[in-house]
Amino acid sequence: MTRHMFGWDYPPGAANDPSAPYNQQDPPCEVCAKSCDNCICPECPVCQSNGDPACYKNHGLVLNAEQIQSQEAAKEQEKIEAAFWEDYAKSHPEEE
Ligand SMILES: [Zn+2]
Ligand SMILES: [Zn+2]
Repeated sequence: MTRHMFGWDYPPGAANDPSAPYNQQDPPCEVCAKSCDNCICPECPVCQSNGDPACYKNHGLVLNAEQIQSQEAAKEQEKIEAAFWEDYAKSHPEEE
């Protein structure tokens, strides 16, 4: 088990938000942007790994429609989160 760097450094009140990045147990898949448990990436026929961006560069894998859609949804989610934290910083100027 590795502890994540966010262990204690979150703003009060947001600690129990299950969708907050520091409450995610695993980093999302780098290819489809879903959590490891929900990864939709096919297995690479060359190295048998799932969701490895290198496979799309080096092993001839091509993103399918579902993966592209998922990436786009993740980008949207990122924008929403960025806006949330921006707002949060404005309304909590005293806190780090
Ligand atoms: Zn994936
Ligand atoms: Zn591969």
